Amino acid sequence: GGGRGCVTLRGSQFRDLLDAKHNVLFDCDGVIWNGETAVTGAPEVVSLLKQRGKRVFFVTNNCTRPRESYVQKFSRLGFTDVAEEEIFSSAYCSAAYLRDVAKVQGKVYVIGCSGVVRELQDAGVHVVEEVGDDEPGTNISNCPLDPDVKAVLVGYDENFTFMKLAKACCYLKNSECLFLATDPDPWHPLRGGRITPEIRRSSIQQCSVRQRCFLFKRGQLSISLQVLGSLTAALETASSRKATVIGKPGRFMFECIASQFDLDPARSLMVGDRLETDILFGSNCGLSTMLTLTGVSTMEEAQKYKDSESPEHKGCVPDYVVESIADFLEALEE
Ligand code: PLP
Ligand code: CA
Repeated sequence: GGGRGCVTLRGSQFRDLLDAKHNVLFDCDGVIWNGETAVTGAPEVVSLLKQRGKRVFFVTNNCTRPRESYVQKFSRLGFTDVAEEEIFSSAYCSAAYLRDVAKVQGKVYVIGCSGVVRELQDAGVHVVEEVGDDEPGTNISNCPLDPDVKAVLVGYDENFTFMKLAKACCYLKNSECLFLATDPDPWHPLRGGRITPEIRRSSIQQCSVRQRCFLFKRGQLSISLQVLGSLTAALETASSRKATVIGKPGRFMFECIASQFDLDPARSLMVGDRLETDILFGSNCGLSTMLTLTGVSTMEEAQKYKDSESPEHKGCVPDYVVESIADFLEALEE
């Protein structure tokens, strides 16, 4: 218990924090908007930060849209000055990773939506075209496999099938074939309290079942960490391999921004709504972190991480907590 973190900022403290930071990174869903509704005050906060000379970036684990469609969404929701270059999605960053880091020669087998396929194509990365799987008589033992596949990328896929799982495993049997996942979130909020399952265990779930049971008994495992089933977990089990995660809380998305804009981590603030994704991401990258309570995580969960003795929970403790990013408004007034 005790120690730093979970500080509620008041008046001049908020101003001092913003004076000390030059870059603000915002998670999208749960911070900037909820689904198709902008968080109240968010467009004004983004504009004011820019008017005060801050650089603003958007970091989302949602891989379902290409960047261009995010620009349209921002504008539709009343944000007047967000540029494509400021938007870093797990789909865009996966494409950047395949092109610039892995320098993949050959094709990528994608389990995911059209957004991620579009980003790969825009980056000049070749994607396997799915053909013939629906033909009568085609099954997992005779479906066509592309000999040119050098990487498998798994993302959110509402059309996931057993056939896709089987094919991906065949490709992954080749140890030279890269195995990437766009993001690790176990589920995402939908409207009316529903959730949609995601594709991979959170990093904390990589600990053993015994460790997990132990944490659970001590009341240190929150609901979002109990979700085990996911597409990537299925693929990891079937292939006996571990995926490289591109999205938050991995560091690559920050490296991707930093490679294009010269960012000093010490002068950057990460604002997010999910402790195990956004806050851990900020901690992993050496940024100051702020939790907003307009999304997934609660103050109680943040407090639980703060009170936990476990060193791996430290990264999930936000430096600051605000009700909503509308709380920036007061600090940004002249
Ligand atoms: N992926 C999908 C499919 C989602 O629906 C969402 C949130 O709605 C996310 C990822 C998480 O996005 P963000 O990182 O902006 O919270
Ligand atoms: Ca979020």
